[in-house]
Amino acid sequence: MAGILFIISAPSGSGKSTLVNALRSQVGGLDFSISWTTRKPRGSEEDGREYHFTSRETFESMRDAGEFLEYAEVFGNYYGTARRSLDEARAAGRDLLLDIDVQGARQVVARLPQAVTIFIAPPNPKVLRTRLRNRSRAEGNVDEQILFRRLNEASKEIENCHEYRYILVNDVLERAVAQLEAIVVVERILQSGGVIDLEHRRDFEIAESCLERNVRERLQPVLEAFGIGPHGSEQRYLFLEDTDE
Ligand code: ADP
Ligand code: 5GP
Repeated sequence: MAGILFIISAPSGSGKSTLVNALRSQVGGLDFSISWTTRKPRGSEEDGREYHFTSRETFESMRDAGEFLEYAEVFGNYYGTARRSLDEARAAGRDLLLDIDVQGARQVVARLPQAVTIFIAPPNPKVLRTRLRNRSRAEGNVDEQILFRRLNEASKEIENCHEYRYILVNDVLERAVAQLEAIVVVERILQSGGVIDLEHRRDFEIAESCLERNVRERLQPVLEAFGIGPHGSEQRYLFLEDTDE
């Protein structure tokens, strides 16, 4: 295995955790980098499983000691990837998956341009709102202000999706999982200098169809629904009429 770095970014609620969990249950040799964060644990999250939860003071001293490969402030909290995650995955010859935001992805790509970047977009704002709300309900804490803020943040993040090598629209779950798997399989073959044989022909076609340049047409209605025109966000907030699904 080549020690490939996969970076996945998505607006909160797009289904990134769901997709990553499905991917990891089906594909071996892939470590997940557990980020450090100053935000409080949510729902059933456990320290050391979803995140290393820490204080601002500890985070800042780790940052000052150069322990992070990248870090960013998201929704008022710090999030960062420890260099150690990458060193350990490399030493073990395993691939590493980073679930980080757009700012973090930029920092990593600037240092490691061969990293494989994947953006996961929700199909439209209504579906995103429903998913966010359902998740909050399941966790027993619906906070309309947080939902509102996350929806607005989503359109800002989606604006940057063109910076990514691959883009998935997480509409039908099974299809999105299959696309993610195909990307991992194909990148492993290509980055190890291999060629696509007949057995992997279908994976190659699926991965190709998710390349940024091949998704533009599919993405157009998604961008429009989020109020993103050719020159960036034009009508953000218009979609936020507050009807529940
Ligand atoms: P994220 O990690 O991007 O914040 P989650 O994986 O927690 O998002 O997903 C948010 C909610 O949407 C969860 O309740 C999840 O079960 C649901 N979900 C994810 N993907 C799909 C999909 N393709 N179709 C329907 N529901 C989905
Ligand atoms: P959440 O609080 O919903 O788990 O994550 C909020 C955002 O922070 C998501 O966009 C997620 O990808 C991002 N994030 C999580 N870990 C990191 C990290 O280590 N670095 C950066 N830059 N972003 C992160």
